[in-house]
Amino acid sequence: MPKLIHYRNKCIGCGVCHELQPEFWRMSKKDGKATLLKAFLKKNIFILEISQKDHEESVITARACPVRVIKVN
Ligand code: SF4
Repeated sequence: MPKLIHYRNKCIGCGVCHELQPEFWRMSKKDGKATLLKAFLKKNIFILEISQKDHEESVITARACPVRVIKVN
């Protein structure tokens, strides 16, 4: 299964990920950063398993992040 990976502490809260994939990303009202919904936290990194059908769209989101804190593997 591919994974969406978010290095959240370096997120600048631009909102692009939420615009592109609102089903996966929400903007936090607390700190203004993006939150990867239903992700689990491992060593300060948020990880979400995604289906193959969401892989391509997630790669586009990762490339659109201005500070490159989203990865897909
Ligand atoms: S696109 Fe990147 S910097 Fe912008 S809110 Fe999403 S994770 Fe944060």
